[in-house]
Amino acid sequence: METRVGLRHLLPYLRPHRRTLALVAALTVVGSGLALASPLLTREVLDAVREGRPTGRAVLLLLVSVVGGALVGGFERYLLQRTAEGVVLGARTGLAAHLLRLPVAEHDARRSGDLLSRVGADTTQLHAAVTSGLFQLASGAVIVSGAVVAMAVLDPALLAVTLLSVGVAIGLVVSVSRRVRLLSTLAQARVGDMTAAVERSLGAVRTIRASSAEERETASVAGSARAAYDAGLRAARLMALVSPASSLAVQGSFLLVLALGGARVARGDLTVADLVAFVLYLFLLVLPLAQALQAWTTLQAGLGALQRVEEVRALPAEDPGGAEPVALDPAAPLLELRDVDFAYAAGGPVLSGVSFAIPRGTRTALVGPSGAGKSTVLALVERFYDVTAGSLLVGGTDVRALPRTQLRGLLGYVEQEAPALAGSLRDNLLLAAPGATEAELQAVVDAVNLRELVDRAPAGLDSEVGDGGVLLSGGERQRLAIARSLLSAPPLLLLDEPTSNLDSRNEAALRTAVDAVARDRTLLVVAHRLSTVVDADQIVVLEGGRVVAVGRHDELLETSPLYRELAAHQLLVPAAG
Ligand code: ATP
Repeated sequence: METRVGLRHLLPYLRPHRRTLALVAALTVVGSGLALASPLLTREVLDAVREGRPTGRAVLLLLVSVVGGALVGGFERYLLQRTAEGVVLGARTGLAAHLLRLPVAEHDARRSGDLLSRVGADTTQLHAAVTSGLFQLASGAVIVSGAVVAMAVLDPALLAVTLLSVGVAIGLVVSVSRRVRLLSTLAQARVGDMTAAVERSLGAVRTIRASSAEERETASVAGSARAAYDAGLRAARLMALVSPASSLAVQGSFLLVLALGGARVARGDLTVADLVAFVLYLFLLVLPLAQALQAWTTLQAGLGALQRVEEVRALPAEDPGGAEPVALDPAAPLLELRDVDFAYAAGGPVLSGVSFAIPRGTRTALVGPSGAGKSTVLALVERFYDVTAGSLLVGGTDVRALPRTQLRGLLGYVEQEAPALAGSLRDNLLLAAPGATEAELQAVVDAVNLRELVDRAPAGLDSEVGDGGVLLSGGERQRLAIARSLLSAPPLLLLDEPTSNLDSRNEAALRTAVDAVARDRTLLVVAHRLSTVVDADQIVVLEGGRVVAVGRHDELLETSPLYRELAAHQLLVPAAG
């Protein structure tokens, strides 16, 4: 999606800092005033010495102006830097918060490394856009317009000549600025590619090592880094053009003014004093003008990065769902699917006409071959995606009518891979129930058979689990996730059993954990092992996105050939692909 980013997109980031920016502007005026006063005061001191007058007052004033100027300048620079850091902070927190609220389907379609790079690298670029870009442009513009007004009063004709040559420089800068912005976006996008490539490799570092693919992966990271370098270099070349072009234009305007002004003085149209004053103003104009032109290109580069931030900010966040919490019907099934059809954005139908109901306090197992759509049912219950047709009801209310916070508060969800978050065991447990007490934590640790792990770990509950829980076994990760949902005590637990073969001890531990969870709540479990289904109140057999049979274990053994086959293989079906 193309969001054309302009200065107005920077304004919301500046708005919280408008007071500080006003103060910076005021300090600039004071600082310039003090700087302009110093030469006059120096002249005063020298005159006083020459004429034998007392110099005390003039020296004091000079000191005040020099020291004051330095202090004001330092403070102003600090405030400006602080504002720029604040802008970066605002952009980062806003973007990170937005990322976590994007619909799950949006995350499916994006590379997390690229998103990371937008939060880290792109927002950093806003710093320069504010300090050396926006501010110098603004202060340059003030001085330039002041000088232009004065020059217009002195001699409009000479001003026209000046503006003509300066206009050439401005035209050049403006004409390259769009390209600078595009190249900056391009360079930042390549940085995004590079971060995504690094993230891809680090996310599967064991697989990469095992496949001896280090060099190929490094080459792909280096390729993106190189592309970022190339784009950066092309932008640098364009930006390097700006300063000689602006100094040429300024020197050209000097020559023109002197030549034409001289002729006008000779003709008597202009006094020498006026010409001298005009040239002095031209001097005054030079530095801020060159800086403003340079600032314009810096700003364009910043806007190029802002483009990537705004692209993500413009994506609609997940809607909050129904406005008001709904009182659920205690007589209705806790969960009911009615004729549900579903297709992921990027594919054909995954579920077709799926209907079943789960009464409160019962255990339902979903079974079926790999790819039948079992995990997809759980994702629909969580409303990570919406049904394409049909409806999904919780306590008799369509999930689309429930506020998402209410819906998700009713659900516990244990994913198949059950990734743990980097941090301690405690952090992971407290994720869904931040207010849980130590006694509650210890109780769930026992309930899910993690006591041995906690006792063995060097820092007990405060031991780190590693990135994604890599320091834990698959079975431990799953039990940790179950413990987490025990703590938040949701009425309906969605459990996606691991497909991997667990050893018999882990299997037994998982069983106990599931039993602990199921004791006083409703359970919908995607079952991959026979032991889970034998005592389920209801088993729903899915095949190719359709419900092909529903019943208890004994009944299905009689009635469903597919179930019989699945059961014969202990239900563990090798993952497809
Ligand atoms: P398994 O037992 O192997 O976990 P499953 O029955 O749980 O399989 P699902 O994960 O629900 O199967 O997947 C059903 C189909 O939907 C598969 O063909 C899969 O490729 C596809 N699919 C799953 N997730 C997505 C997604 N996020 N985007 C697009 N297609 C998906």
